[in-house]
Amino acid sequence: MRTAEDITALLEQVKDPEIPVISIRELGVLRNVSVDEDRVEVTITPTYSGCPAMDFMRLEVERTLREAGVERFTVHQALSPAWTTDWISEEGRKKLLDFGIAPPPSSADIRALKGTAPAIACPLCGSTDTTLVSHFGSTACKALYKCNACKEPFDHFKCH
Ligand SMILES: [Zn+2]
Repeated sequence: MRTAEDITALLEQVKDPEIPVISIRELGVLRNVSVDEDRVEVTITPTYSGCPAMDFMRLEVERTLREAGVERFTVHQALSPAWTTDWISEEGRKKLLDFGIAPPPSSADIRALKGTAPAIACPLCGSTDTTLVSHFGSTACKALYKCNACKEPFDHFKCH
């Protein structure tokens, strides 16, 4: 018998296909795991509706469960409440930064700025003297920025 904790630990293997260092739990996509007798229920919430990576993550969850010998499972996709950047865990934010991606500001940060655009800090040198180059970076989920201090381009994980 597996517990919900066992299943959660197992699903730690499922990463964001675009950012392979961060798991779907750290990203806040994995919302809930429950086990009722031998039946496993997993709930995931897409970072935004129509995110192409979502189908992949769902298939990866199913494959991981099947490979671990879990026979009876259902993967639910919950659209409400909508995913927010606040669901990215602290370790997830740190991993994004280590991967060279500027993590999104939390909603508290955005509220504190009262509508002005948040300064995106360069993940390489930490400078906030950065310029938006393109709303679309290497994927639709990221925007491309350039650091004016170290001159390096970098991706910023966008809020949706
Ligand atoms: Zn820099």
